[in-house]
Amino acid sequence: MSKKASDPKEVPVRFIDCRAFRHQTRHVNDSATWGTGGVVIEFVRHTRCVNCKVDVFTTYGVPDFRVVRRKYIYPDNYQVKGGYPVFDARSDYITHRFGTKEG
Ligand SMILES: [Zn+2]
Repeated sequence: MSKKASDPKEVPVRFIDCRAFRHQTRHVNDSATWGTGGVVIEFVRHTRCVNCKVDVFTTYGVPDFRVVRRKYIYPDNYQVKGGYPVFDARSDYITHRFGTKEG
């Protein structure tokens, strides 16, 4: 279990970038679950963000290939106790980048 920041001010800017504008993930590995008769019943794609290093495990069901679940393993201080809304992250990112709030 990763450590949560107690305040958004503890969140590194590169994490705020991800929170505000999405992760930049790269493929790490694939795995599968087999059912009876050696048929693949689930497929898991593991990706990692090149920026914040979050690991994302996306499970797809077979045969419809819909997303069944998504599991995230976050680095310390990515998550914030009490939450950190995306709009706040965008505002904080822009403040960091340009020294002023948007709008
Ligand atoms: Zn990220």
